[in-house]
Amino acid sequence: MFTLPLPIKVLPIVSIQIPTLTTTELPIPERFGRLYDLAYNLWWSWDESGADLWRAVDTQLWDRYRNPVEMLGAVDRATWQRLAESESFADQYANTVRRFDAYMSAKDTWYERNHGTGDTSVAYLCAEFGIHSSLPMYSGGLGVLAGDHTKSASDLGVPFVGVGLLYRRGYFRQQIGAIGSQQNLNPILDIARLAVRPVASPTGGHLKVSLDFPGRVVKAAVWVLSVGRVSLLLLDTDIMDNDPSDRPITSMLYVRGREARFCQEYVLGIGAVRALRALGIEPAVWHVNEGHAAMSLLERIREHVAGGMKIDEAERAVRSSTFFTLHTPVPAGNERFDFGLAEKYLGHWPNSVGADLDHLRHLASSRKGDSTMFDLGALGIGLASSVNGVSQRHGEIVDRDWSHLLTTPGYGITNGVHPATWLSRPLKRVIRETIGADWSTSLIEDPKTADIIRDLPDQEVWDAHQNRKDVLSTFAQGRIRSQLARHGGSPDELRSVDRMMPSDRLTIGFARRFATYKRATLLFHNVPWLQAILTNPDRPVQLVFAGKAHPADQEGQALIKHIHELAHSPELKGHVYLLEDYDIRMARFLVQGVDVWLNNPRPPEEASGTSGMKAAMNGVLNLSVLDGWWIEGFNGKNGWAFGHETDISDHDKQDAEDAIALYQLLQEQIVPLFYDRDDSGIPLGWVQLMKEAMASSAGDFSSHRMVADYVSKAYVPLGL
Ligand SMILES: *Cc1c(COP(=O)(O)O)cnc(C)c1O
Repeated sequence: MFTLPLPIKVLPIVSIQIPTLTTTELPIPERFGRLYDLAYNLWWSWDESGADLWRAVDTQLWDRYRNPVEMLGAVDRATWQRLAESESFADQYANTVRRFDAYMSAKDTWYERNHGTGDTSVAYLCAEFGIHSSLPMYSGGLGVLAGDHTKSASDLGVPFVGVGLLYRRGYFRQQIGAIGSQQNLNPILDIARLAVRPVASPTGGHLKVSLDFPGRVVKAAVWVLSVGRVSLLLLDTDIMDNDPSDRPITSMLYVRGREARFCQEYVLGIGAVRALRALGIEPAVWHVNEGHAAMSLLERIREHVAGGMKIDEAERAVRSSTFFTLHTPVPAGNERFDFGLAEKYLGHWPNSVGADLDHLRHLASSRKGDSTMFDLGALGIGLASSVNGVSQRHGEIVDRDWSHLLTTPGYGITNGVHPATWLSRPLKRVIRETIGADWSTSLIEDPKTADIIRDLPDQEVWDAHQNRKDVLSTFAQGRIRSQLARHGGSPDELRSVDRMMPSDRLTIGFARRFATYKRATLLFHNVPWLQAILTNPDRPVQLVFAGKAHPADQEGQALIKHIHELAHSPELKGHVYLLEDYDIRMARFLVQGVDVWLNNPRPPEEASGTSGMKAAMNGVLNLSVLDGWWIEGFNGKNGWAFGHETDISDHDKQDAEDAIALYQLLQEQIVPLFYDRDDSGIPLGWVQLMKEAMASSAGDFSSHRMVADYVSKAYVPLGL
């Protein structure tokens, strides 16, 4: 029906009839049988017709689960009966199925138009994929980026297959306690309730790949997640075949123990190659996205040697089809292990390729002569024919810091975000009505298309934004209320939440991982000054924060506590909110529903940053230091830049000066502009900036543009 690198067979979908409800108890009317296909393809998550259909099945259940596979298992007989009798549902169902089929079988995709059709593909290996909040397989920017990359590869028709790990305990969910301490929850996910399906092995049964571990074999089962036209293979060691001590290897994303982490990345790297081989997929290009998957390169060298090549030939062959992307600006940010650990698991590798242990040492050492660490970033860089950073500045940093390992100069391919995922519904509607159904591709194919956005009527843009502000306000109140209830709040206290986060105020958002370099508390440098800005009764301002700190990061957790305390202090109460459990879903509410997106990392530590792109696309104005993508994104009329552009070794001084610059900008420009309204209440000057922010980001910082760049600069030159 549609073109994939190769059709991936899946076992009959037994699991969709969620264990608690079997088909005999729950007859899904045959006429709605295609709901299965829709539920098992994440396409619905970025095409509104998909989400609308789920809501139409059962609004309450949908609000509870927001995961069609899980929801379908809970729909009762009476509901199916009602739907079977409803003409409007039948129409909606038929329309959505038609849209889905048209999407899946589209011939005239961007890739076909520009590069024709072929029978090769790109394999994209990554430790995390952020596709939707119902699949907690991501921790932050890297995963969401990989998810957006996958979605755009699907939209553009790129022959593409992703490989990652299936984490049955996902990444942790965050709760914030009554005194501001972060609590981490890792609930076990029921695979039967996720949109993943077991991949069938050619000989029948669930496909499993075998991995050599010291003195034993560990098996990984292969699952598939369908993301539009793209298949994402996910490896899972939590199966009966394995010893109970080996089963948890893939259970938690970025597991803390170093050896456990090594095992995870060993499964990812070696297992990815074996899973693709087992399915007969022969990628022309291997895109290794960050170091976590770099051990795949060792496996591919081994294969070539087993096939008769000498090791140097094998390394050349691997290099010529490998592309590596680095996401961290500091060499120390690479994934590194004690060499002894590598020796324990890879001790057999040198033998299998006719080399000695020193050769392995050499391949994975970040500096000449540094043989104590096994550096996966270095391994990837040294065995790739080309290496990129994720913004133009980051590309220069990669080239500077890694020149001793690079075979061709490092450069930047700037990140982007998936337009249909991140753009708000009302704005999507306005843009679709003016640009057309193919708006997201048009925006990257013809730069003039962006001018249409510059000409949108002010009222429509402002109304669409105000709608998202209202929605954010309701969402935030819900979060705060359930947190307060957990802390024992009385009914009256819970009721008072209705007055929080009013949507008519200037709202500034700051949401990202609480890594210290992101300086989450910079804005609180001078509390009295900040208080004066926030609490002016004529022009009130509110701040909303969200983010997780890595469970091992005490400093990050201290930042959360500090913000929690400030949010409850008499000075700032009612003007500062901290929402718990930041994820893709909350990110969408925030980047669509605040007015200003604050970003103040210590340069040059933000390699790219993508949340600001999501904000800009929605007409939310970036207020950011010139680092990462903002160096390219800022054009003087689409937001604001402030602060030092480099790290000035005296951090206290830098923070103090940056904070003053920030207060002055807020006081002198941002707050007055927001509250300067015309007769009908529209801030015309502000809306001007909003439209410029949207126009300057919707094409240039879309993941369609990013994937198109990867195709033309990397995938096609390497043989796709
Ligand atoms: C976009 C996104 C990120 C990355 O944002 P940065 O600006 O790079 O910090 C992290 N987490 C979630 C949930 C996101 O949606």
